[in-house]
This record gives sequence, structure tokens and C-alpha cells, in this order.
Amino acid sequence: MVKNLVVFDFDWSFVDQDTDRWVFEVLSTELRRTLQDRKSAGSQCMPDVVDQTMEDLFQAGFKKEQVLDALRILPVHPAMKRAVTSLKAKGETTFLCLSNSNQVYIATILEKHGLSNLFDQVITNPSHWDGDRLHIGRRLPADGPQHTCTIGCLPNMCKGDELDAWLAAHGGKDSFTKILYVGDGGNDFCPLLRMRQGDVACVRKNMELQARIEKEGEKVGCKVDVELWDQAWIIDEIFSKL
Ligand SMILES: [Mg+2]
Repeated sequence: MVKNLVVFDFDWSFVDQDTDRWVFEVLSTELRRTLQDRKSAGSQCMPDVVDQTMEDLFQAGFKKEQVLDALRILPVHPAMKRAVTSLKAKGETTFLCLSNSNQVYIATILEKHGLSNLFDQVITNPSHWDGDRLHIGRRLPADGPQHTCTIGCLPNMCKGDELDAWLAAHGGKDSFTKILYVGDGGNDFCPLLRMRQGDVACVRKNMELQARIEKEGEKVGCKVDVELWDQAWIIDEIFSKL
């Protein structure tokens, strides 16, 4: 029996935005600038920085419903929805989400689009509401054991370790005919190194992941087939051939 696994990064992969930036872009240019000034170089940003800016948003008087409404208008391309719902309907594919966003953001967006049951599991940073204040933590808490990845993952999460752990808990790599990974960011490089020859990386064009594969892929023994995509309908096309 064919059994595929599709692993989705969330920001700029499943959705056409960066969730962390989006909420501030919708609600406050001043706080969007604050987030920009606080985050370190590169496209990824530690959840600590987002949490700190969430505190500022709360202090500025913004309410929970405004944050949730901002998430509800975040763009999810109709072709991406079609791609995942058609593939899921075939019944041969398990979906997993590996994201550096957070639980509340992802759950709110999935719910708005009727996709709450799409993913078998969403592995991301924890978050919870305390009144109107959204607290965002690290997937790996700062005071607990840290990952030992040397590929360049952020301290709060190694997506390669997360993929390995999920696979180990779900029958191992070889219980899946094919693994597909849809990603765009520098932190999506590590999980590709845990995948096999014949597995597929759907890499968003002209983003950090493509550059890392081209620069480091061969050197570190990246074995996956690479399919470049720029728009959601290409993902629908790739999925329809599975
Ligand atoms: Mg991304």
C-alpha cells in the first residue's frame, strides 16, 4: 500500500506570509518596526523576540480579538487549499507541520480555513492567552536540554531532530513510500538531510532554502530530489502526480 508523508513548513510555504511579521503589519507599523529592529539577521526570528513584541502590543492596548482577526485575514492561497484537500481525500498521505511560528497562530489560521484536521500533528512553538496577552515560548525551553544540531538551526528548534523523532514514533522512515517536504527557509535545510534518495523537497524559488541547497547540499550529502516552486498551483500539480 502506498503511504506518503507530506511535511509542511508554515510561513511562506503553507501560507503566503510570515505569520510573526503579519500580525504586527496588520495592527501597528510602529511595532512592526520594533520587531524588525529586534530580530537578528536572516529570515528567521526567535520566538523570544516575537513574545517581547507581543508584550508591547498588549501594553499598547490591543485586544485578543484584534490579533485573532489579523490572523484570520492572512492569505492562504486557494490553490494550496485545493492541493492539500485533494491529496488528503485520496487517503494515502499523512500531513505533518513543522514550523517556527506558534500554536495559536497556526490553529487560528487552520480553523478559519476549515483545515483544523489536516495535520496529524503541528510541531511548533507553544503559545497561550492570558487575557489579551499572547505568550509565546520556545519549542525547546531555554532552561531544558538543548539540541546539538550543527547545521544552523535556531536554538529553539531543530527541524531535523523534530522530523526524526516524529518518524521514529510513527513506524520509522521506511514505513513511508515517499516523504515530501515543502519549505522555503534556511531552517528547512536540516530536515532534508534526514530524508532519503527518492524523497522530494519542494523548495520555494529564490528563498533561503534554495540558496542553502545549492551552496551546501552536496557537501553535506543531501540526497533528496529538488522540485522548485513559486506559486501554490505548482504544489497542486506536484501533489496530483503522487
Ligand atoms: Mg518558512
